[in-house]
Amino acid sequence: MMVLSERAKNVTASLTLAISAKAKQMQKSGEEVIIFGAGEPDFDTPAFIKQAGISAIEDGFTKYTPASGIIELKEAVVAKFRKDNNLDYTATQIIISCGAKHSLYVCLQAICNPQDEVIIFSPYWVSYPEMIKLAGAIPVIVNTKEEDGFLPAISSIKAAVSNKTKLIVINSPCNPTGIVYPKELLEEIGQIAVKNDLGIISDEIYEKIIFDSKKHVSCASGGEDIKSRTIVVNGVSKTYAMTGWRIGYLAGSVEVVKAMSSIQSHSTSNPNSIAQKAALAALKNEDQEATSMAAEFQTRRDFIVERLKRINGVSFCKPEGAFYLFLNIGSFLGCKLGKRVVGNSLDFANYLLEEAKVAVVPGVAFGADNYIRISFAASMEDLSHGLDRMETAMRKINSA
Ligand SMILES: *Cc1c(COP(=O)(O)O)cnc(C)c1O
Repeated sequence: MMVLSERAKNVTASLTLAISAKAKQMQKSGEEVIIFGAGEPDFDTPAFIKQAGISAIEDGFTKYTPASGIIELKEAVVAKFRKDNNLDYTATQIIISCGAKHSLYVCLQAICNPQDEVIIFSPYWVSYPEMIKLAGAIPVIVNTKEEDGFLPAISSIKAAVSNKTKLIVINSPCNPTGIVYPKELLEEIGQIAVKNDLGIISDEIYEKIIFDSKKHVSCASGGEDIKSRTIVVNGVSKTYAMTGWRIGYLAGSVEVVKAMSSIQSHSTSNPNSIAQKAALAALKNEDQEATSMAAEFQTRRDFIVERLKRINGVSFCKPEGAFYLFLNIGSFLGCKLGKRVVGNSLDFANYLLEEAKVAVVPGVAFGADNYIRISFAASMEDLSHGLDRMETAMRKINSA
Protein backbone atom coordinates (compact mmCIF):
# COMPACT_ATOMS: atom_id res chain seq x y z
CA MET A 1 0.00 0.00 0.00
CA MET A 2 1.24 3.44 -0.91
CA VAL A 3 1.71 5.59 2.18
CA LEU A 4 0.25 9.04 1.70
CA SER A 5 2.11 12.24 2.46
CA GLU A 6 1.48 14.08 5.72
CA ARG A 7 0.33 16.93 3.52
CA ALA A 8 -2.39 14.81 1.94
CA LYS A 9 -3.40 13.33 5.29
CA ASN A 10 -3.86 16.82 6.71
CA VAL A 11 -6.26 18.01 4.06
CA THR A 12 -9.93 17.77 4.96
CA ALA A 13 -12.23 16.60 2.19
CA SER A 14 -15.00 19.05 1.47
CA LEU A 15 -17.88 18.50 3.90
CA THR A 16 -20.23 20.02 1.43
CA LEU A 17 -19.79 17.14 -1.00
CA ALA A 18 -21.78 14.60 1.03
CA ILE A 19 -24.93 16.72 0.99
CA SER A 20 -24.68 17.67 -2.67
CA ALA A 21 -23.96 14.06 -3.69
CA LYS A 22 -27.07 12.94 -1.81
CA ALA A 23 -29.14 15.76 -3.34
CA LYS A 24 -28.04 14.78 -6.85
CA GLN A 25 -28.81 11.14 -6.10
CA MET A 26 -32.33 12.08 -5.00
CA GLN A 27 -32.83 14.20 -8.12
CA LYS A 28 -31.73 11.27 -10.26
CA SER A 29 -34.29 9.01 -8.70
CA GLY A 30 -36.99 11.49 -9.68
CA GLU A 31 -37.40 13.53 -6.50
CA GLU A 32 -37.90 17.27 -6.87
CA VAL A 33 -34.96 18.51 -4.90
CA ILE A 34 -34.35 22.26 -4.85
CA ILE A 35 -30.68 23.11 -4.60
CA PHE A 36 -29.63 26.17 -2.60
CA GLY A 37 -26.07 24.94 -2.40
CA ALA A 38 -24.66 26.44 -5.58
CA GLY A 39 -21.38 28.30 -5.29
CA GLU A 40 -21.70 29.78 -8.76
CA PRO A 41 -24.07 32.06 -10.69
CA ASP A 42 -26.97 30.21 -12.29
CA PHE A 43 -26.77 32.48 -15.36
CA ASP A 44 -25.23 31.46 -18.66
CA THR A 45 -21.94 33.04 -19.75
CA PRO A 46 -22.87 36.13 -21.86
CA ALA A 47 -22.95 35.40 -25.61
CA PHE A 48 -20.21 37.85 -26.62
CA ILE A 49 -17.81 36.12 -24.23
CA LYS A 50 -18.65 32.68 -25.59
CA GLN A 51 -18.13 34.05 -29.08
CA ALA A 52 -14.64 35.24 -28.15
CA GLY A 53 -13.85 31.68 -27.06
CA ILE A 54 -15.22 30.26 -30.32
CA SER A 55 -13.21 32.79 -32.34
CA ALA A 56 -10.05 31.87 -30.40
CA ILE A 57 -10.52 28.23 -31.42
CA GLU A 58 -11.29 29.11 -35.03
CA ASP A 59 -8.26 31.40 -35.19
CA GLY A 60 -6.05 28.59 -33.96
CA PHE A 61 -5.31 30.25 -30.63
CA THR A 62 -4.95 26.80 -29.13
CA LYS A 63 -1.29 26.51 -28.17
CA TYR A 64 0.76 27.25 -25.06
CA THR A 65 0.88 30.87 -23.98
CA PRO A 66 3.35 32.41 -21.50
CA ALA A 67 2.86 30.56 -18.19
CA SER A 68 1.75 33.72 -16.40
CA GLY A 69 -0.83 34.62 -19.08
CA ILE A 70 -0.99 36.62 -22.29
CA ILE A 71 0.13 40.25 -22.20
CA GLU A 72 -3.17 41.59 -23.63
CA LEU A 73 -5.08 40.06 -20.74
CA LYS A 74 -2.58 41.40 -18.18
CA GLU A 75 -2.98 44.86 -19.74
CA ALA A 76 -6.77 44.52 -19.51
CA VAL A 77 -6.41 43.59 -15.84
CA VAL A 78 -4.17 46.63 -15.27
CA ALA A 79 -6.87 48.80 -16.89
CA LYS A 80 -9.56 47.15 -14.76
CA PHE A 81 -7.69 47.92 -11.54
CA ARG A 82 -7.21 51.50 -12.60
CA LYS A 83 -10.83 51.99 -13.65
CA ASP A 84 -12.62 50.12 -10.86
CA ASN A 85 -10.25 50.39 -7.90
CA ASN A 86 -8.12 53.43 -8.63
CA LEU A 87 -5.06 51.19 -8.29
CA ASP A 88 -1.98 51.55 -10.47
CA TYR A 89 -0.07 48.42 -11.44
CA THR A 90 2.27 47.49 -14.25
CA ALA A 91 1.75 44.29 -16.26
CA THR A 92 4.75 42.76 -14.44
CA GLN A 93 2.67 42.93 -11.25
CA ILE A 94 -0.14 40.82 -12.74
CA ILE A 95 -0.44 37.06 -13.09
CA ILE A 96 -3.26 35.15 -14.77
CA SER A 97 -4.08 31.77 -13.21
CA CYS A 98 -6.53 28.89 -13.64
CA GLY A 99 -9.21 30.60 -11.51
CA ALA A 100 -8.94 32.82 -8.45
CA LYS A 101 -8.68 29.67 -6.34
CA HIS A 102 -5.52 28.78 -8.21
CA SER A 103 -4.23 32.36 -7.80
CA LEU A 104 -4.68 32.00 -4.03
CA TYR A 105 -3.09 28.57 -3.97
CA VAL A 106 0.01 29.56 -5.93
CA CYS A 107 0.33 32.80 -3.98
CA LEU A 108 0.36 30.93 -0.65
CA GLN A 109 2.90 28.49 -2.07
CA ALA A 110 5.09 31.45 -3.03
CA ILE A 111 4.86 33.21 0.34
CA CYS A 112 4.49 30.71 3.18
CA ASN A 113 7.19 28.83 5.05
CA PRO A 114 6.48 25.91 7.40
CA GLN A 115 5.03 27.14 10.72
CA ASP A 116 4.16 30.58 9.36
CA GLU A 117 0.79 31.72 10.64
CA VAL A 118 -1.96 33.05 8.40
CA ILE A 119 -4.90 34.87 9.98
CA ILE A 120 -8.33 34.15 8.52
CA PHE A 121 -11.77 35.27 9.69
CA SER A 122 -14.48 32.78 10.48
CA PRO A 123 -16.98 32.11 8.96
CA TYR A 124 -14.39 31.58 6.21
CA TRP A 125 -14.46 30.33 2.65
CA VAL A 126 -13.95 26.55 2.80
CA SER A 127 -10.69 26.46 0.89
CA TYR A 128 -8.66 28.99 2.91
CA PRO A 129 -7.64 26.73 5.84
CA GLU A 130 -6.83 23.79 3.56
CA MET A 131 -4.78 25.86 1.11
CA ILE A 132 -2.85 27.39 3.99
CA LYS A 133 -2.10 23.91 5.36
CA LEU A 134 -1.07 22.71 1.89
CA ALA A 135 1.48 25.53 1.86
CA GLY A 136 2.84 24.18 5.15
CA ALA A 137 1.55 27.13 7.14
CA ILE A 138 -0.90 27.30 10.04
CA PRO A 139 -4.35 28.88 9.77
CA VAL A 140 -5.11 31.10 12.78
CA ILE A 141 -8.83 31.67 13.00
CA VAL A 142 -10.34 34.91 14.29
CA ASN A 143 -14.06 34.50 14.89
CA THR A 144 -16.56 37.13 13.85
CA LYS A 145 -20.04 37.35 15.35
CA GLU A 146 -23.46 37.80 13.84
CA GLU A 147 -24.20 40.59 16.38
CA ASP A 148 -21.14 42.46 15.06
CA GLY A 149 -22.44 42.06 11.50
CA PHE A 150 -19.81 39.33 10.93
CA LEU A 151 -17.08 41.98 10.93
CA PRO A 152 -13.86 41.17 12.79
CA ALA A 153 -13.11 43.15 15.96
CA ILE A 154 -9.81 45.03 15.67
CA SER A 155 -8.89 43.89 19.20
CA SER A 156 -9.29 40.21 18.19
CA ILE A 157 -7.10 40.68 15.14
CA LYS A 158 -4.40 42.35 17.21
CA ALA A 159 -4.62 39.54 19.77
CA ALA A 160 -4.15 36.94 17.02
CA VAL A 161 -0.95 38.50 15.67
CA SER A 162 2.23 36.73 16.83
CA ASN A 163 5.85 36.85 15.74
CA LYS A 164 5.01 33.95 13.38
CA THR A 165 2.20 35.80 11.60
CA LYS A 166 2.89 36.29 7.90
CA LEU A 167 -0.42 37.14 6.32
CA ILE A 168 -4.00 38.23 6.90
CA VAL A 169 -6.63 37.01 4.44
CA ILE A 170 -9.64 39.24 3.77
CA ASN A 171 -12.71 38.37 1.70
CA SER A 172 -15.14 41.19 0.98
CA PRO A 173 -17.90 40.80 -0.19
CA CYS A 174 -17.71 37.65 1.90
CA ASN A 175 -18.56 34.06 1.09
CA PRO A 176 -20.52 32.75 3.13
CA THR A 177 -21.93 35.82 4.95
CA GLY A 178 -22.48 38.30 2.10
CA ILE A 179 -21.00 41.01 4.31
CA VAL A 180 -19.07 43.93 2.80
CA TYR A 181 -16.21 45.37 4.87
CA PRO A 182 -16.39 49.14 5.40
CA LYS A 183 -13.49 51.29 4.21
CA GLU A 184 -12.51 52.26 7.78
CA LEU A 185 -12.20 48.61 8.86
CA LEU A 186 -10.05 47.80 5.82
CA GLU A 187 -7.80 50.73 6.69
CA GLU A 188 -7.49 49.59 10.29
CA ILE A 189 -6.57 46.07 9.18
CA GLY A 190 -4.10 47.64 6.75
CA GLN A 191 -2.52 49.60 9.60
CA ILE A 192 -2.15 46.41 11.68
CA ALA A 193 -0.35 44.85 8.71
CA VAL A 194 1.94 47.86 8.31
CA LYS A 195 2.74 48.03 12.01
CA ASN A 196 3.55 44.31 12.27
CA ASP A 197 5.13 43.95 8.84
CA LEU A 198 2.49 41.49 7.55
CA GLY A 199 1.15 40.82 4.09
CA ILE A 200 -2.53 40.97 3.17
CA ILE A 201 -4.32 38.78 0.68
CA SER A 202 -7.55 40.44 -0.39
CA ASP A 203 -9.97 38.09 -2.15
CA GLU A 204 -12.28 40.42 -4.10
CA ILE A 205 -13.95 37.85 -6.35
CA TYR A 206 -17.47 39.16 -5.51
CA GLU A 207 -16.53 42.81 -6.10
CA LYS A 208 -19.24 43.38 -8.71
CA ILE A 209 -22.02 41.49 -6.95
CA ILE A 210 -22.88 44.18 -4.45
CA PHE A 211 -26.25 45.62 -3.42
CA ASP A 212 -28.06 48.84 -2.47
CA SER A 213 -25.49 51.08 -4.16
CA LYS A 214 -22.86 49.92 -1.65
CA LYS A 215 -19.38 50.57 -2.96
CA HIS A 216 -16.68 47.93 -3.07
CA VAL A 217 -13.42 49.20 -1.65
CA SER A 218 -10.22 47.33 -2.40
CA CYS A 219 -8.07 46.79 0.65
CA ALA A 220 -5.07 47.88 -1.45
CA SER A 221 -6.49 51.38 -1.94
CA GLY A 222 -5.73 52.52 1.62
CA GLY A 223 -2.41 54.15 0.72
CA GLU A 224 0.96 53.14 -0.74
CA ASP A 225 2.24 51.50 2.47
CA ILE A 226 -0.80 49.21 2.50
CA LYS A 227 -0.88 48.63 -1.27
CA SER A 228 2.76 47.54 -1.37
CA ARG A 229 2.06 44.66 1.06
CA THR A 230 -1.36 43.70 -0.33
CA ILE A 231 -2.08 41.03 -2.90
CA VAL A 232 -5.41 41.52 -4.65
CA VAL A 233 -7.10 38.39 -6.00
CA ASN A 234 -9.98 38.59 -8.43
CA GLY A 235 -11.31 36.74 -11.48
CA VAL A 236 -14.03 36.42 -14.06
CA SER A 237 -15.90 33.42 -12.57
CA LYS A 238 -18.49 35.16 -10.43
CA THR A 239 -18.77 38.54 -12.20
CA TYR A 240 -19.35 37.15 -15.69
CA ALA A 241 -20.83 33.73 -14.89
CA MET A 242 -17.64 32.07 -16.16
CA THR A 243 -16.88 29.53 -13.42
CA GLY A 244 -16.09 26.71 -15.84
CA TRP A 245 -13.65 28.72 -17.94
CA ARG A 246 -11.15 28.84 -15.05
CA ILE A 247 -9.55 32.27 -15.27
CA GLY A 248 -8.50 34.27 -12.23
CA TYR A 249 -5.94 36.99 -11.76
CA LEU A 250 -3.84 38.60 -9.06
CA ALA A 251 -1.95 41.83 -8.55
CA GLY A 252 0.93 42.20 -6.15
CA SER A 253 4.60 43.05 -5.89
CA VAL A 254 6.89 42.15 -8.80
CA GLU A 255 8.75 39.67 -6.51
CA VAL A 256 5.63 37.74 -5.52
CA VAL A 257 4.32 37.66 -9.08
CA LYS A 258 7.68 36.46 -10.38
CA ALA A 259 7.87 33.67 -7.82
CA MET A 260 4.30 32.67 -8.60
CA SER A 261 5.08 32.60 -12.34
CA SER A 262 7.92 30.16 -11.73
CA ILE A 263 5.73 27.89 -9.62
CA GLN A 264 2.96 28.07 -12.20
CA SER A 265 5.41 27.33 -15.03
CA HIS A 266 6.33 24.03 -13.35
CA SER A 267 2.82 23.02 -12.36
CA THR A 268 -0.09 24.05 -14.58
CA SER A 269 1.82 26.04 -17.23
CA ASN A 270 -0.44 28.67 -18.74
CA PRO A 271 -4.13 28.95 -17.98
CA ASN A 272 -6.26 27.74 -20.88
CA SER A 273 -5.48 29.86 -23.96
CA ILE A 274 -9.06 29.93 -25.27
CA ALA A 275 -10.44 30.93 -21.88
CA GLN A 276 -7.87 33.73 -21.67
CA LYS A 277 -9.28 35.20 -24.90
CA ALA A 278 -12.81 34.90 -23.51
CA ALA A 279 -11.76 36.61 -20.26
CA LEU A 280 -10.14 39.36 -22.31
CA ALA A 281 -13.45 40.00 -24.08
CA ALA A 282 -15.25 40.03 -20.73
CA LEU A 283 -12.88 42.57 -19.17
CA LYS A 284 -12.77 44.81 -22.25
CA ASN A 285 -16.52 45.15 -22.47
CA GLU A 286 -18.70 47.52 -20.49
CA ASP A 287 -20.15 45.61 -17.56
CA GLN A 288 -23.75 45.67 -18.79
CA GLU A 289 -24.41 41.94 -18.32
CA ALA A 290 -22.56 41.89 -15.01
CA THR A 291 -24.64 44.80 -13.75
CA SER A 292 -27.91 43.19 -14.72
CA MET A 293 -26.90 39.88 -13.11
CA ALA A 294 -26.05 41.74 -9.90
CA ALA A 295 -29.44 43.51 -10.04
CA GLU A 296 -31.17 40.15 -10.37
CA PHE A 297 -29.24 38.83 -7.35
CA GLN A 298 -30.42 41.85 -5.37
CA THR A 299 -34.07 41.19 -6.26
CA ARG A 300 -33.65 37.60 -5.05
CA ARG A 301 -31.82 38.73 -1.92
CA ASP A 302 -34.73 41.07 -1.10
CA PHE A 303 -37.18 38.24 -1.65
CA ILE A 304 -35.48 35.69 0.59
CA VAL A 305 -34.77 38.25 3.31
CA GLU A 306 -38.49 39.12 3.54
CA ARG A 307 -39.43 35.45 3.40
CA LEU A 308 -36.98 34.41 6.14
CA LYS A 309 -38.10 37.22 8.45
CA ARG A 310 -41.42 35.39 8.74
CA ILE A 311 -39.85 32.14 9.97
CA ASN A 312 -39.61 31.59 13.72
CA GLY A 313 -36.33 30.56 15.29
CA VAL A 314 -33.87 31.87 12.69
CA SER A 315 -31.76 35.02 12.45
CA PHE A 316 -29.29 36.45 9.96
CA CYS A 317 -27.41 39.52 8.74
CA LYS A 318 -28.85 40.93 5.52
CA PRO A 319 -26.36 40.13 2.74
CA GLU A 320 -24.77 43.21 1.16
CA GLY A 321 -23.05 41.34 -1.66
CA ALA A 322 -22.24 37.93 -3.18
CA PHE A 323 -25.22 35.52 -3.47
CA TYR A 324 -25.34 33.82 -0.09
CA LEU A 325 -27.29 34.24 3.10
CA PHE A 326 -25.82 32.75 6.26
CA LEU A 327 -28.73 31.62 8.38
CA ASN A 328 -28.51 31.09 12.13
CA ILE A 329 -30.33 27.84 12.91
CA GLY A 330 -28.81 27.46 16.38
CA SER A 331 -32.21 27.43 18.08
CA PHE A 332 -33.07 24.16 16.31
CA LEU A 333 -29.97 22.28 17.38
CA GLY A 334 -30.34 19.69 20.09
CA CYS A 335 -33.98 19.05 19.31
CA LYS A 336 -35.51 15.61 18.77
CA LEU A 337 -37.87 14.48 16.06
CA GLY A 338 -38.93 10.93 16.83
CA LYS A 339 -35.67 8.98 16.78
CA ARG A 340 -33.76 11.75 15.05
CA VAL A 341 -31.63 14.19 16.97
CA VAL A 342 -30.66 17.35 15.12
CA GLY A 343 -27.35 17.96 16.82
CA ASN A 344 -25.34 20.08 14.39
CA SER A 345 -25.47 21.92 11.09
CA LEU A 346 -24.83 18.74 9.10
CA ASP A 347 -27.79 17.00 10.79
CA PHE A 348 -29.90 20.06 10.10
CA ALA A 349 -28.88 20.14 6.42
CA ASN A 350 -29.67 16.42 6.18
CA TYR A 351 -33.04 17.01 7.81
CA LEU A 352 -33.88 19.78 5.33
CA LEU A 353 -32.84 17.55 2.46
CA GLU A 354 -34.97 14.61 3.57
CA GLU A 355 -37.96 16.50 4.96
CA ALA A 356 -38.11 19.55 2.68
CA LYS A 357 -36.09 18.28 -0.27
CA VAL A 358 -34.00 21.42 -0.10
CA ALA A 359 -30.19 21.22 -0.24
CA VAL A 360 -28.15 23.79 1.68
CA VAL A 361 -24.53 23.83 2.86
CA PRO A 362 -23.98 23.15 6.58
CA GLY A 363 -22.22 25.99 8.39
CA VAL A 364 -19.58 23.66 9.79
CA ALA A 365 -17.91 23.79 6.35
CA PHE A 366 -17.24 27.48 7.02
CA GLY A 367 -16.25 27.02 10.65
CA ALA A 368 -19.66 28.03 12.08
CA ASP A 369 -21.76 25.05 13.16
CA ASN A 370 -24.87 27.05 14.21
CA TYR A 371 -25.52 28.11 10.63
CA ILE A 372 -26.46 26.97 7.15
CA ARG A 373 -25.54 28.74 3.92
CA ILE A 374 -28.36 29.43 1.49
CA SER A 375 -27.27 30.32 -2.02
CA PHE A 376 -29.68 32.52 -3.93
CA ALA A 377 -28.07 31.68 -7.24
CA ALA A 378 -31.40 29.98 -7.99
CA SER A 379 -34.56 31.01 -9.86
CA MET A 380 -37.27 33.02 -8.07
CA GLU A 381 -39.59 30.05 -8.54
CA ASP A 382 -37.16 27.71 -6.79
CA LEU A 383 -36.52 30.27 -4.06
CA SER A 384 -40.22 30.65 -3.44
CA HIS A 385 -41.00 26.91 -3.35
CA GLY A 386 -37.83 26.06 -1.46
CA LEU A 387 -38.51 28.61 1.27
CA ASP A 388 -42.10 27.40 1.63
CA ARG A 389 -40.82 23.87 2.15
CA MET A 390 -38.09 25.00 4.55
CA GLU A 391 -40.63 26.91 6.61
CA THR A 392 -42.88 23.86 6.89
CA ALA A 393 -39.95 21.67 7.93
CA MET A 394 -38.81 24.16 10.56
CA ARG A 395 -42.34 24.55 11.91
CA LYS A 396 -42.36 20.79 12.43
CA ILE A 397 -39.29 21.07 14.63
CA ASN A 398 -40.77 24.03 16.52
CA SER A 399 -43.92 22.11 17.35
CA ALA A 400 -42.20 18.81 18.13
C1 LIG B 1 -15.69 31.17 -5.96
C2 LIG B 1 -14.67 31.74 -5.06
C3 LIG B 1 -13.31 31.82 -5.42
C4 LIG B 1 -12.70 31.18 -6.63
O1 LIG B 1 -13.25 31.34 -7.82
P1 LIG B 1 -12.56 30.77 -9.15
O2 LIG B 1 -13.66 30.10 -9.88
O3 LIG B 1 -11.46 29.85 -8.78
O4 LIG B 1 -12.04 31.98 -9.86
C5 LIG B 1 -12.42 32.44 -4.57
N1 LIG B 1 -12.82 32.93 -3.40
C6 LIG B 1 -14.10 32.86 -3.00
C7 LIG B 1 -14.47 33.43 -1.69
C8 LIG B 1 -15.07 32.25 -3.80
O5 LIG B 1 -16.32 32.14 -3.38
